[in-house]
Amino acid sequence: MFPSPEPVEADAPICSAKGCRAAAEWVLAWNNPKLHTPDRRKTWLACEEHREHLSQFLGVRGFLKDVVALAEWESRQGGTGD
Ligand SMILES: [Zn+2]
Repeated sequence: MFPSPEPVEADAPICSAKGCRAAAEWVLAWNNPKLHTPDRRKTWLACEEHREHLSQFLGVRGFLKDVVALAEWESRQGGTGD
């Protein structure tokens, strides 16, 4: 543990969009079939503003598998998946 100069919520997830520091509200689950086995899921976090932009980025490449509200995603973790 070391002191932080500014108050930061310890594990508040931040949007994955470049330069964005907004709190993430969405999880984009994706998979690049050239790099990943089919059941592998990479995740990007997105704030409300960037959800569509990031979804499109993945979608046009055919990578996007799922878009889930962060709270729901977290509740799924430890579940059985599909
Ligand atoms: Zn953002």
